[in-house]
Amino acid sequence: MSTTAILQPGEIEPPVGEIPFLYIPARDSVFRERAVRLRALAQGHVMQEFLLFMADLTDAQHAALAVLAQVPLPSAAQTALGREHGMPPLSVQSWPRDAAWQKALAQIIVHVMKTATPTATRILQRLQAMDSAALETFATEILAGNFDDMDLGAAPFVAAALQVYWTHLSTALGTRAFAAGDIVNLCPVCASPPVSSVVRIGGAENALRYLCCSVCNAQWHMVRVKCSNCESTAGISYFMIAGTSGAVKAEACEACGTYLKIMHMDKDQYVDPVADDLATLALDLMMDESGQLRSGPNLFLISTSTLAA
Ligand SMILES: [Zn+2]
Ligand SMILES: [Zn+2]
Repeated sequence: MSTTAILQPGEIEPPVGEIPFLYIPARDSVFRERAVRLRALAQGHVMQEFLLFMADLTDAQHAALAVLAQVPLPSAAQTALGREHGMPPLSVQSWPRDAAWQKALAQIIVHVMKTATPTATRILQRLQAMDSAALETFATEILAGNFDDMDLGAAPFVAAALQVYWTHLSTALGTRAFAAGDIVNLCPVCASPPVSSVVRIGGAENALRYLCCSVCNAQWHMVRVKCSNCESTAGISYFMIAGTSGAVKAEACEACGTYLKIMHMDKDQYVDPVADDLATLALDLMMDESGQLRSGPNLFLISTSTLAA
């Protein structure tokens, strides 16, 4: 496994003391490295089959992103306006998404069909039979966090394609197009909730905590020991599964009764905000039993005990 790139080639290192508010992973490695991580985590795991299939799905995302067609991007004036007003310029609620994401979905379906179980194959065939308008409606529901009456079996594949499209947009524009948003628990690129948070190591980001977007893969700075949902700094506590390294913990807030996982690169430099979240489902079950809601979804494993968006 390669080490995680801390700074992108050509990126100017910020002055000492200046905190980089936004980190956008490299387009050519974000899904590839996630797939490698999923396969590593699958070894000897009780959810081995599931994690290996998620690795195949992530490989399919990597392949679809590599061939994604040119799509319209926000103009310089639009991103400047977004920066000025602290508004995410690629909001999943308002950015007119290009139908290119549906092409990515079709490619992803063909890719994962090769290793799908009979049950998953039936789900994939169901998606293939849906028309363009029905897929757009499905996408809108996922992006709005309306999970209640959703086809949860099919959702990960649709979400995977949407992640490819929004990762294309975020990596095409780069960090300088964006500014910190007014709502700290939503992605400053696409206004989605976080899947988890990561305490990074190395460079100007050393020991800083970043919330990781559940859709576009951007990560934005958020001070530590603060609830990412309600911003309370009181009553924050940490839970982990006994006998683990503590690289993945649940950060729980008494004030709003929610939690989000926090991953520590100093304990395991290869932690991935999506892969390690999926591999620690046991921690979610533990938190769920204690009556706490997740404050952000993992779109590969949508739980109805996630806080509504
Ligand atoms: Zn985002
Ligand atoms: Zn809170």
